[in-house]
Amino acid sequence: MIDLHNHTPLCHHAVGEPEEYLARARTLGLREYGFSEHSPWMLQYDGEQIAPTDAEFDQYLDRMQALRERHDGTDGPVLRIGIEMDFRPEHAARARAMAAAFPFDHHIGSVHNLGDWIFDHPDRLHEWAGRDVGQVYREYFAAIRAMLDWNLIDIVGHLDLPKKFGHLPPEGIESFVEELLPDLVAAGVAVEINTAGRDKPVGEFYPGPAVVARLARAGVPFTLGSDAHKPSEVGRHIGDALELLRGCGVREVMTFSQRQRVGVRI
Ligand SMILES: [Zn+2]
Ligand SMILES: [Zn+2]
Repeated sequence: MIDLHNHTPLCHHAVGEPEEYLARARTLGLREYGFSEHSPWMLQYDGEQIAPTDAEFDQYLDRMQALRERHDGTDGPVLRIGIEMDFRPEHAARARAMAAAFPFDHHIGSVHNLGDWIFDHPDRLHEWAGRDVGQVYREYFAAIRAMLDWNLIDIVGHLDLPKKFGHLPPEGIESFVEELLPDLVAAGVAVEINTAGRDKPVGEFYPGPAVVARLARAGVPFTLGSDAHKPSEVGRHIGDALELLRGCGVREVMTFSQRQRVGVRI
């Protein structure tokens, strides 16, 4: 039905042309389909390019606009053009300039690194060894809170990403979310059910069912994203995500048009 979190090869770690992603979304009968490419200020991995350069991000925007001109939504999903902004405090000015320069439909805000550690990168998995997992989560959720203070974000991306490889804090992820909840509600942002987590070692959505239930009780709005890095991942597990939301009493999911939230009944 909707899938707002999808990448393109311009980030250097995805494959398939945007047209192929969109074709898959059409085949699945999605109603709304959004690209959300990584921001150019994403932390690089040991000099390896794992995000678009500034020039490549311009190409992304050009390709998206061309795609939108060719695809008016009468045959297939409505096309949304977004960005996955990395929260890196030292790049606040770049993030603001980017937001002002292009009329994105949605800004997903994500935390992928703590200091120079890209904690979700498989090649940096060994750096979890010997760490205080609870402390990693404390630092991670402090970063999420600081990201909300940026006031640039419409959607929190993969809210509990540090669990990707199965590292869970002794106090439970729910306690961190409980602490974050007032800020989340005050910021008025949506939380995505990022279905990619189902295919990672942790084997469940970001966030998982208990957190989704808690957020639903607090009235936090939800959206949906597959975080596809290849066309076959478009819309993955979206049906299960909708079932989870319905089971928690959620009656609509959010899409965005030029950063205005629009509810879609489920
Ligand atoms: Zn990516
Ligand atoms: Zn991400």
